[in-house]
Amino acid sequence: MRAQLDVLKQRLADVHNLNRAMAVLSWDQHTYMPPGGAFARAAQTATLSRLAHDIFIAPETGELLHEAVQEIPEFQPDGDDADLLRVAKRDYDRAIKVPTSLVTAINEHSVLALPVWVRARQENDFASFAPYLEKTVKLSRELAEHLGYEEHIYDPLLDEAEPGMKTSQMVSLFDTLRRELVPLARAISERLDRVDDAALHQPFDEAKQEAFGRMVVERFGYDFLRGRQDRTVHPFETTFSRNDVRITTRFDPAWLSPALFGTMHEAGHGLYEQGIAPSLEGTLLARGASLGLHESQSRLWENVVGRSRPFWEHFYPRLQETFPQQLSGVALDEFYLAVNRVEPSFIRVEADEVTYNLHALLRFEVELDLLRDRYSVADAPEVWKQKMEEYLGIRPPSDSLGILQDMHWSGGVFGYFPTYTLGNVLSVQFFEAAVREFPEIPDRIGQGDFGALRSWLTDRIYRHGRKYEPNELIEMATGEPIQSRSYIGYLKTKYGAIYGLS
Ligand code: ZN
Repeated sequence: MRAQLDVLKQRLADVHNLNRAMAVLSWDQHTYMPPGGAFARAAQTATLSRLAHDIFIAPETGELLHEAVQEIPEFQPDGDDADLLRVAKRDYDRAIKVPTSLVTAINEHSVLALPVWVRARQENDFASFAPYLEKTVKLSRELAEHLGYEEHIYDPLLDEAEPGMKTSQMVSLFDTLRRELVPLARAISERLDRVDDAALHQPFDEAKQEAFGRMVVERFGYDFLRGRQDRTVHPFETTFSRNDVRITTRFDPAWLSPALFGTMHEAGHGLYEQGIAPSLEGTLLARGASLGLHESQSRLWENVVGRSRPFWEHFYPRLQETFPQQLSGVALDEFYLAVNRVEPSFIRVEADEVTYNLHALLRFEVELDLLRDRYSVADAPEVWKQKMEEYLGIRPPSDSLGILQDMHWSGGVFGYFPTYTLGNVLSVQFFEAAVREFPEIPDRIGQGDFGALRSWLTDRIYRHGRKYEPNELIEMATGEPIQSRSYIGYLKTKYGAIYGLS
């Protein structure tokens, strides 16, 4: 008898379907909805969101979870059903710890704070945003207290993005990165003129950019019969089903990089979602294991593959054929250097592979300090500037180029930024594990063949969806816990060669 399990699964499927319907509405909002639709769309989304939340946190869900566990045979502790129950119980226990009034307060705060942040950044007016950042800190603390923690107040916030990861793990990871990457970025800063990326800044026909990007990600294995690509101001990936995974791209007619590498990045997220096992379709296991795991895949395809020498050995002649006027006089070596140019800059989203994590580190430290009241929100802009000088050797001339640059702190609570760095670190740990098993992978990439790499990733990561927590999945896939050795080695070798450091 599995009567209760079936009732529960139907109930969870309803929640899942409501969430995925919300994703469709959100995708439409960012791609095709006319401005006039905004008000009605907000109301529609609020209704679906309330329904999904109410069904999920209802006491019946808790009772069904309790009863359904008894129906799983003891000899089957790790089947899809057992995994579904374990993850659903975890989500449920977490959700019921947070009072509905706090959920509402966080949502309302993000709605009110966003336009204030937009204006504050435009006008370089931190003072007007400061009360909202104070509220973000206050709500983050409240959320953490409700969720509970043993070691660190940041743990339950990080746990939302990275189930099972601990702040102490992040602190030690970032300590190593700071120690190794600050001197590397400094050494490169003294040799910036070794790499020129003028070749990337020329007029590039948008339709040709689109066709080339599409050809590349189709070769990666992104399936356009189960996906599509549209245009948005801020690129993203969104999933309605493993058979309908959408990506979006932004084109710059005078700069090749944003669309080219942005398409590879979002397709990396898309490959993960398209690779989830069909048996998990329609359940809450049917998505990536965490934000950091997801980012590891976008970074792997964008940087470890898409900015590698073997990749361009294969694709550069094709790119030259696409843009003969712009690139026929640019040698492969020169182009490879151009796409890997490093330069300390103020803006995180424009940062290169070497400096990116120093941006994430800075935000992580500021979040920890504000949560623990080490200094006031009013002092945070100056702390930001000092840290930029310490880590990157540059001082932002304004708060718009400093603490006001990211929308995240207006959008709710803390805990998100470390996932970017987790993604970077894991991208290399996964790639190296795949190459250990299939040493031919780099040569295959040099022939434009990504089959071996993609099947390793699908087998070890993608197909499992959310069945395992990040720490478990990383160990299962690579045979060791998360480590930064591979990532730091990769950066030192690659950029040591590019910038002639010994
Ligand atoms: Zn991403």
